[in-house]
Amino acid sequence: MRFSAVSPYNAVAKASLPEKIVIYDSTLRDGEQMPGVHFTLEQKISIARKLDAVGVHQIEAGFPAVSEAEKDAVKKIASLGLGADVLCLSRALKQDIDAAIECDVDMVLLIIATSDLHLRYKLKMTREQVLDKAVQAVEYAHAHGLKASMSSEDSTRSDMSFMAEMLSKCEQAGAARLGITDTLGCGGPEAIHYIISKMNEKSKLPLSAHLHNDFGLATINSISALGAGAEAIATTVGGIGERAGNVSLEQFVMALKHLYKRDVGIKTEGLTDLTRLVFESAKLPLPANQPWVGPNAFSHESGIHVAAVLSCPMTYECVNPEEVGNRRRLVLGKHSGTHIVKSRLDEKGVSASQEQICDIVRAIKRAGEEHGRVSDEEFWTIVKDVTGRPELNPDCLEKKG
Ligand code: MN
Repeated sequence: MRFSAVSPYNAVAKASLPEKIVIYDSTLRDGEQMPGVHFTLEQKISIARKLDAVGVHQIEAGFPAVSEAEKDAVKKIASLGLGADVLCLSRALKQDIDAAIECDVDMVLLIIATSDLHLRYKLKMTREQVLDKAVQAVEYAHAHGLKASMSSEDSTRSDMSFMAEMLSKCEQAGAARLGITDTLGCGGPEAIHYIISKMNEKSKLPLSAHLHNDFGLATINSISALGAGAEAIATTVGGIGERAGNVSLEQFVMALKHLYKRDVGIKTEGLTDLTRLVFESAKLPLPANQPWVGPNAFSHESGIHVAAVLSCPMTYECVNPEEVGNRRRLVLGKHSGTHIVKSRLDEKGVSASQEQICDIVRAIKRAGEEHGRVSDEEFWTIVKDVTGRPELNPDCLEKKG
């Protein structure tokens, strides 16, 4: 079904995005760095397999330098024979790169800070020392036959010319990809566009962006990065990660697919299951209003919305819930109207007069005002009460049609 072809939703000119778009998912690395989150080896393997099954192109499996167990997990995931490339994080240090070599990953994600703040208070290094270390790290990986991507940490607060110098030197030293990171999530779409555009002018290599969500702009920043010519975007499932988290895989993929008409090969119908697996493994509650994958993403309670959705779901859903593996829920509560009651009764082949339906709605509204959502069980208790038919038992009633 197609409606107006000239609505803003359909007709506004789209940013031109590059031919190739790569998703490198960091749920197992930055996602696990979310305070309080820990995945067991078994959970990591399940998550890696599921990421692979939905079609994520690259999996950042961990940071081997963290611990022996972390290194073993990365090694194990790299040996699963997944379709996705397996990557791992590494500081610009020989021992970190040795661990990546031992894990036999497809590419190592090297990172070194370029902001003066990080140089002074974290690395306690001069710019010259950072340049040397970065170049040595790339050369070392390169000499050992390991593909290396080099990213500047805290790019959005770095002196652009120094950051560009570091990355250019790494390109000359044999890096396979260059990355910028909005480590603090403090760049807006224009800043991200500017940095990537400038790097694109200087470099022939594919560029990546690792972006945080502190201002809630991670998704639009990722689109902005692509618009400026970045190729690879780091995501995490449900946007989990340090502080306010990262670019959410689901939001990024669905925005590309629907707002920019770009299919990047992700089997979107697996996204809700994948998110549930990650949140359960992380012992995190999945927010009800999580876009696409949350329980409320396709829930409707208000009488006006429910009546319209029963007539045509597109009135209040711009995507079919099955497309992301979620489902529609028509919820009973204080905002309910007659349509949902009629539809529930019809489903079970129960007839009621218009007056009874109005009484049922009134009782639902009262219950909803007392305690919020009205359960199925409560609904049928109300129906029995109002109709005076205590024998009604929804489990035994035939589904009509
Ligand atoms: Mn990060």
